[in-house]
Amino acid sequence: MKKIKSLNLLLLLLAGMTQACSQTSDQRLSSFVTNDTAMKYQVTRTDDEWRQVLTPVQFRILREKGTERAFTGEYDEFFERGAYYCAGCGQKLFESDTKFNSGCGWPAFFAPYLEDNVQIQIDRSHGMVRSEVLCASCGGHLGHVFDDGPPPTGLRYCINSGALVFKPDTLLGQPEKR
Ligand SMILES: [Zn+2]
Repeated sequence: MKKIKSLNLLLLLLAGMTQACSQTSDQRLSSFVTNDTAMKYQVTRTDDEWRQVLTPVQFRILREKGTERAFTGEYDEFFERGAYYCAGCGQKLFESDTKFNSGCGWPAFFAPYLEDNVQIQIDRSHGMVRSEVLCASCGGHLGHVFDDGPPPTGLRYCINSGALVFKPDTLLGQPEKR
């Protein structure tokens, strides 16, 4: 228990140091962006194969970069304790501890479960420049990340409910689906 406390303290200190840097939040975001667009994913399927394992809504979001309508997703106003997994491949993406009510109509998190579990890419569609969030395991589109989130990161991962599957804490002791 003591170990966990001192780790938390270290994380808080590190977060404080990051914020104290003169870096703008734009620079902070861009440091996560991967330039390797030819990244190979652990889980690959053809569109036909994805259609067989995903619902039409999941396919539209994950494989066609669709966005669910604001305030319609099942995890928007949902704050149970547990974790959120990729609906495509089962990779663990977010935990309820980092979820907050952004009021924007989609589930919002200030940090991913592990930075390596998500991939950030520049998205220039719809006349905007945004940072797209993808699952690092299957390349599925999850949503976008913005720099107007709460402390400690100042980031807002705005994620489609349809890209996620929630599992409550009581199921977390079981082996994670890969
Ligand atoms: Zn995935």
